[in-house]
Amino acid sequence: MAQRMPKIQVFRRVVLGTLLVGLTVFTFLHQKLQGIPAIDALDPFGGLETLFKWLAGGDFIKKIEPGNIVLLGAIVALGIVLSRFFCGWLCAFGALQGVFGWIGKKLFKRRFEVPKKLDRVLRWMKYVILVAIIYFTWKTGELVIRPYDPLAAYGHLPAGLTAVWTEFKVGFILLVLFMVLSMFYERAFCKYACPLGAVNAILSRVPLFRIKRDKPTCISCSKCDRVCPMNIDVSHAESVKSPECISCFECVTACPTKKDTLVATIGNKKTKLWTVVIIGFAIYAGAALIGQVTGMLRFTAPSLSELSDKGTLNVADIKGSSTYEELVGAFGVDLDQLYRELGIDKTKVPTTSMIKDTGKLAGIEDFETDQARVAVAKLLGIPYEGEGTTPTETATPEETTAEPGAAASAVSSESSLMIPEGFALEGTMTIQDVAKALNATPQQVIGKLGLPQDIPLDKPLREMGSLYGYTMPQLKEKIAQ
Ligand code: SF4
Ligand code: SF4
Repeated sequence: MAQRMPKIQVFRRVVLGTLLVGLTVFTFLHQKLQGIPAIDALDPFGGLETLFKWLAGGDFIKKIEPGNIVLLGAIVALGIVLSRFFCGWLCAFGALQGVFGWIGKKLFKRRFEVPKKLDRVLRWMKYVILVAIIYFTWKTGELVIRPYDPLAAYGHLPAGLTAVWTEFKVGFILLVLFMVLSMFYERAFCKYACPLGAVNAILSRVPLFRIKRDKPTCISCSKCDRVCPMNIDVSHAESVKSPECISCFECVTACPTKKDTLVATIGNKKTKLWTVVIIGFAIYAGAALIGQVTGMLRFTAPSLSELSDKGTLNVADIKGSSTYEELVGAFGVDLDQLYRELGIDKTKVPTTSMIKDTGKLAGIEDFETDQARVAVAKLLGIPYEGEGTTPTETATPEETTAEPGAAASAVSSESSLMIPEGFALEGTMTIQDVAKALNATPQQVIGKLGLPQDIPLDKPLREMGSLYGYTMPQLKEKIAQ
């Protein structure tokens, strides 16, 4: 007779299932409604990617919002206290792999295992991926992982296969690959490729939470080994120290002795499984609450007019779900000029249309939202690094329609600016501060930094990056040149 699943495992599956369904509905709404942010805004790993930029200049890489930092903070707190609890209980992508793992079990009625030696090597891959992502994100200031991210590909499936294939070719291939692999090898992505899993694995070295085995009562049945989705050798460990443990408690609930042979411990103290779960949820909910109270975590994207009112509006804020009406109102560009710039016709694309629907309405096959950003930047005469461009591909001031004389005067005044040794440009400095420190005029500073002539002189540099399209590391590099 089939054994009844322990309540805590039923609950875990319900939580994971709800998260997966919730995320799927959310991604669907993002495609259909205005003001629902993309899946990128819910990815805690985005917080890690933008961390450097945020600390250095106070702004975020494109598509990443303060909420990502909140979610990252929650995961770090969780990781320190409960190891990879997030992976086992709160990750929708883990849930998706679980679904395919379940299908695999039903289909093949057996458990496959990657040969031990290969498995050991492959598990290092996630750390390599983590380091590579951090390095390249830091170098480029861009969300480098996005095109390769299977979760981002999953989150854009409601846009249709063609759209996903155009924007996330590699991510989509990886999504299919890992879902197929998960049918044979449980949680293949968590084990081998998840950079967030790698962060959690590093945090799990803090020995606060452990699964412990009581040797005298253990009957060496190996049931714990067989149910562990991360293939940990529980039956030979006195304390599970593996950074791979996702705190799922499958081993504990499967152990047949009923003598507390396997128990969860926090700070070496035996702790009831439900208590561990409550602590885990409380940490995550607490962080979300702080995010809500501080306004950092939002489940609706700020509108362009809201950003405009705050004075932080940037062409990079234009979303696929922004309408032409909204865009004209917030940026003050001329609608007819904008349509001309994009080569579209008002009769086919009404002003109330979302930008992402332009291609469909105007019959332009490969229309991308970024074209609207580029067009608005051009009409405003401000520099904008289009997505996927390198700095050398960015329009120079001469190529834009901005005050033709400004760039030339900036360059000529810059040539006489001397930077003394040891001078450090800080995000808290205004242009006036920098000019004073360098014994120069604000115009010389603006020229040296390649900033637009109309930039305020009395605002801290770090507050204007998103509006004027620069980052603090970029300015520092210009000073160093
Ligand atoms: S050791 Fe136990 S708690 Fe950790 S992943 Fe394996 S089954 Fe889950
Ligand atoms: S399931 Fe329990 S009794 Fe069996 S090997 Fe694991 S710890 Fe020992």
